[in-house]
Amino acid sequence: MEQLASVAVGRPVKGPFTYLVPAEMEGRLRRGHRVLVPFGRGRALGFYLGPGQAPEGGGPMKPLSAVLEEAPALPEDVLALVEFAASYYRHPLGEALRAALPPGLADPAEGPEPAPDVVRTVVVRGAPPLDALRRAPAQSATLGYLLAVGGRAELDELGRAVPGARAAVQRLVERGWVEVESRVLEPTVPEGMAQVRPEHLTPAQAAALAELRASLDAGGFHPFLLQGVTGSGKTEIYLRAAEHALAAGGGALVLVPEIALTPQLVGRFRSRFGSSVAVLHSGLRDRERLLHWKGLRSGSVRLAVGVRSAVFAPVRDLALLVVDEEHDPSFKQDEKLRYHARDLAVVRASQVGATVVLGSATPSLESVENARRGRYRRLRLPSRVDDRPMPTVELVDLRRTRPRATTAPEQPPALSPPVVDALGQVLGRGQQAILFLNRRGHSAALVCEACGHGVPCSRCDVSLTLHLKPRSLQCHYCGESRPIPERCPACGGALVPVGAGTERVEAEVAERFPGARVARLDRDAAATAERLTDLLSRFARGELDVLVGTQMVAKGHDFPGVTLVCVVSADTGLLLPDFRAGERTFQLVTQVSGRAGRGGEPGRVLVQTWNPEADAVARVPEHDYDGFAERELLWREALAWPPFSRLVALRIEGEDPGETARVARRLGERLAVLLPGPATGVRLLGPAPAPLPRLRGKSRWQIVLKSPRHALLGPVLDQLERDLEVLPAAVRVVIDVDPGAML
Ligand code: ADP
Ligand code: ZN
Repeated sequence: MEQLASVAVGRPVKGPFTYLVPAEMEGRLRRGHRVLVPFGRGRALGFYLGPGQAPEGGGPMKPLSAVLEEAPALPEDVLALVEFAASYYRHPLGEALRAALPPGLADPAEGPEPAPDVVRTVVVRGAPPLDALRRAPAQSATLGYLLAVGGRAELDELGRAVPGARAAVQRLVERGWVEVESRVLEPTVPEGMAQVRPEHLTPAQAAALAELRASLDAGGFHPFLLQGVTGSGKTEIYLRAAEHALAAGGGALVLVPEIALTPQLVGRFRSRFGSSVAVLHSGLRDRERLLHWKGLRSGSVRLAVGVRSAVFAPVRDLALLVVDEEHDPSFKQDEKLRYHARDLAVVRASQVGATVVLGSATPSLESVENARRGRYRRLRLPSRVDDRPMPTVELVDLRRTRPRATTAPEQPPALSPPVVDALGQVLGRGQQAILFLNRRGHSAALVCEACGHGVPCSRCDVSLTLHLKPRSLQCHYCGESRPIPERCPACGGALVPVGAGTERVEAEVAERFPGARVARLDRDAAATAERLTDLLSRFARGELDVLVGTQMVAKGHDFPGVTLVCVVSADTGLLLPDFRAGERTFQLVTQVSGRAGRGGEPGRVLVQTWNPEADAVARVPEHDYDGFAERELLWREALAWPPFSRLVALRIEGEDPGETARVARRLGERLAVLLPGPATGVRLLGPAPAPLPRLRGKSRWQIVLKSPRHALLGPVLDQLERDLEVLPAAVRVVIDVDPGAML
């Protein structure tokens, strides 16, 4: 009898598909092998999953075209993890497998090894006479750009920023005004700050590490929740646990929310493990990604530090997985394979029998509940290292310290008197401050004094945000940008800015404290990785006094000079229509507060709020996360929100509002038939227009399925997927399992 192969095809199609195995390939095939298969009218990359079965009803089968390698590209454990993820998150397996590979291997036409990437940096020499360039606008613009960004920029960046820059650079080199430096790219990241290894662990650290070591020595699946306040030395535990795993010949994988924002963390791993650590993040070039991947796959590199997607890294003999800041929303991918990297880390650990550590000062309520039920073992670091005090946190009640602003031609200041005083004191002592506000731009909106309307985005149901650098109105959802109108487009009334953004706070600080060196850290000010690194390192070197920024300033930075943190508005996220709004607010405020007082001097935190009684705000000053979590969990249980239920969101999107609404209603009716009443255990919420009913020109509807157990949802979703196949193509329906944000 002929041999058959089950193959996942690397295209967005359901599968797997069955192919004939040609005689010359018999006995050579192993799970995880990349193969080339005839597909449609062409060929496609596929993955061999195992022996196949003849499709029901027979029909002709085609033979595999080729096996692309000797040893399978995908190791068995990664294959098993992706199989789980594709089925759990309902995504085509072949496409998910392709996404787990580095670019060079995900492409069937992989040619010879690509040449090492060379990075070209353009550097200005001396002080070029700009006058001489009046007749050469491209050269003048190129030089202008270079000087504006500090005298050097990568050629690629220049090419994108300035039209005609490449030719201009050549002329400028000939005239001797700039130089081009080339360097071959190696699989490294910019060094963070090297750190010495602390000699003694604190007793709490030692106790936590002892448990992890025992777990590693015993082998097998052991999940831990490491709950340690900010600055309690969690990272030191990750480092030592990784050392222990590596010393015993195992591999380790550390997941972090964002690498560009935390060069210090990478630096600590690098200074401890040298070149035996692979660093995986989205800023890598294809070539780098491939090098790291191959190093891990071959076993020559045994430790990986990376962002969300690194959960699929081919670390050998994986013994330890760490998820740092496990509560961070960025671990959830919101397109294609909509996985949650923390959850997959736990799955992977259970599949391979490894120790997994979820670390945070403010763990997700899902993990807290898992610890309460005894599924995760909880390790605690209740105080900061070296007996450093926790920062003192004070709430500033904006209702009392500042009258509520009415529509006035001039904006009231964003900073209350207590904050201004505190800033003055800190600056007077030569210390540093961080001001946090989760909104970029100058003002949240321009609102018409006469009719009260904001200037809306043409494609989304939101008001445009006012930016002054450069002057424009921008949509923070779709990126639309347009000139600032003189008058209200609807009624011609006068427009006034409302709601402060980071640009305005930066300006306010600069105005009040003319001598202070103020910078802004948000996606606009730190648009490139270079600019970001530059800002962070200038602040770390003490060349800046005040950093005003979005959540980019909240991440795990360790700036010992910072003694004051101000949360300009604790309320921005509190009122979002999302059951996690309170949890997220507490986490964010705590995380940014944790930046204060990490050096010798104690830290102070001022939190401006209109809602000082809200639990998520009121408990921050006491650092009472446990108390907050306990009450929040009671409420979640009463309303059957996660972690006391599992959610699946169906997101329905289409150009045509009528058609989209019709599809949403039809799906709703269909689900009502599939789920007749409470006996099924699944509750149906919606269909209803999404909280953001129009985004990028598309109408959006939402249906949420809520169930005590995920397993109850499976059969319904299976049926639904079959129904979706016959939907009008103009309406897209996405199934989002365990959704993150509900917007
Ligand atoms: P977390 O990750 O919990 O915020 P870190 O691991 O970053 O805390 O530790 C905070 C600071 O304390 C770091 O500068 C770190 O080097 C230092 N540190 C950690 N453990 C010790 C220790 N046992 N003794 C002295 N310093 C320590
Ligand atoms: Zn928009």
